[in-house]
Amino acid sequence: MVTRMAVKRVNKPLSATTTRRRFLQCASAAALMPLAARFASAAQITPDADSVLLVIDVQNCFLPGGTLPVSDGDQIIPVINALGGKFENVIFTQDWHTPGHASFASSHQGKAPFETVEMPYGTQVLWPDHCVQGSRDAQLADGLDIPHAQLIIRKGYHNEVDSYSTFVEADGSTKTGLTGYLKERGLSKVYVCGLATDFCVSWSAQDAAAAGLSVSVIEDACRGIDLDGSVLAAWKAMADAGVARISSSDIV
Ligand SMILES: [Zn+2]
Repeated sequence: MVTRMAVKRVNKPLSATTTRRRFLQCASAAALMPLAARFASAAQITPDADSVLLVIDVQNCFLPGGTLPVSDGDQIIPVINALGGKFENVIFTQDWHTPGHASFASSHQGKAPFETVEMPYGTQVLWPDHCVQGSRDAQLADGLDIPHAQLIIRKGYHNEVDSYSTFVEADGSTKTGLTGYLKERGLSKVYVCGLATDFCVSWSAQDAAAAGLSVSVIEDACRGIDLDGSVLAAWKAMADAGVARISSSDIV
């Protein structure tokens, strides 16, 4: 498991009076609503011009039949296609490694996939060779059907540094440029989906939150790898970072 510093957003505490006032406002409004309407309205989200769907690494390599398959990874494709139709703004990311990349077990003598190695930036999980630049394995999944997507951002292309996050590489300092792109376009609400929940989705969501963006992860539009409970740990880390956990049915 790659260790990383916990990323926590510091929220300014509300005064006791403000907190109580808000509670009373919510409580009185809720009392006026029928029960069904309360549940229906609580989670409904309509993406607007400031919203973006960020589709993480839905590539052949991470699908069944690929070099680093995520279990049931293909099942999220129809969910993501349906979501894509609800967003004006869509971005794809693509894991895009050099041949012989430092995150590959084959680049470290005597090491097998899923073992770890110490890198200058911390502990690195070693993976099977995957998503090599220009390969069929690295291509976005054939089944993706979101032709209006505006950007494909590639990551993991520096030979000596991995990049689970699509914002900041694993050294914690090298930027991909995505934060600048989102800020220049005024895209402040990020909805994250894709592969894998416990690695690239989680790290990307946490870094988006650290950049001051509003972040939600769409649970049923993600699948995880789950090494030693890493999916559970990822959801906890994302919650601690202020990331909302939602379902595709919440988006209308
Ligand atoms: Zn990779």
